[in-house]
Amino acid sequence: MCVAIAGGALRGASAFGAGSIACHTRNRAAPRVFFFHGMEVFWTPRAKDNKSLVKLLREEGAVKSDRVACVMEKLDRALFIAEGERNLAYMDCPMQIGFNATISAPHMHGSCLELLNKHLQPGMHALDVGSGTGYLTAAFALLVGDQGRAVGVEHIPELVEQSIKNVKRSPAASLLEPGVLSLHVGDGRLGWPEHAPYNAIHVGAAAPQVPQPLIDQLKPGGRMVIPVGEGAQELVVIDKGPDGSLKQWTASSVRYVPLTSKDEQLRGGV
Ligand code: SAH
Repeated sequence: MCVAIAGGALRGASAFGAGSIACHTRNRAAPRVFFFHGMEVFWTPRAKDNKSLVKLLREEGAVKSDRVACVMEKLDRALFIAEGERNLAYMDCPMQIGFNATISAPHMHGSCLELLNKHLQPGMHALDVGSGTGYLTAAFALLVGDQGRAVGVEHIPELVEQSIKNVKRSPAASLLEPGVLSLHVGDGRLGWPEHAPYNAIHVGAAAPQVPQPLIDQLKPGGRMVIPVGEGAQELVVIDKGPDGSLKQWTASSVRYVPLTSKDEQLRGGV
């Protein structure tokens, strides 16, 4: 679940879920929690509340801007986690949410919001593929505001139902009714053509290749952030130029659950 440590810096990928394996220096003053998973010892810094978690992410460099810090402070991560596990909400690691899915680690939420920040301006359209708990879709909705649109697509109906309940408890709740924020059951590999083109597309699960419908639904001038790969994975950033040309670069090495069919996911063990 969390990350192996040696000498105060991250050394390995998380065994499960969405976490970065980029090497960050951790805040030595932050309390740490140790986990035993199989024979390995995992640790993670643990903040006392959501505000302290965001402060920690700023110190680590995952969150850089006031705008991203502000939206993450507004969206208390505990609201997106099952009641019985909320004591673990402020640790910087992914957590199981059932159905072989996870809520991504806070540093991945922060990094992806930073990468997409310029493409999440008021009035813009954003797509969140593999929306899971709805955390990032809610963040997108707060950033694009009431003239924009944030669409989440998730293929597990129970997770979509739960994500709507999560959002209803959050400051993004008022954006559900007017349709600024919507969460749908569907195969995210097909995108969500109804509200395309999108200025920002985020994919929360690793694809073997970038799905063509997502490229097609990206607006000229827009940006997609997508983990790609089946064993080793990279967080790939795709910028579509005003003329439709594509530029691609890698932000970091990561470990996400696969972007796959619902049956395959339910069969697999995450
Ligand atoms: N950003 C989410 C991450 C959830 S994990 C969060 O932090 O809550 C990735 C999600 O992708 C899982 O919920 C999984 O069910 C979903 N997923 C995987 N393949 C999918 C597909 N083809 N279509 C839609 N959702 C998919």
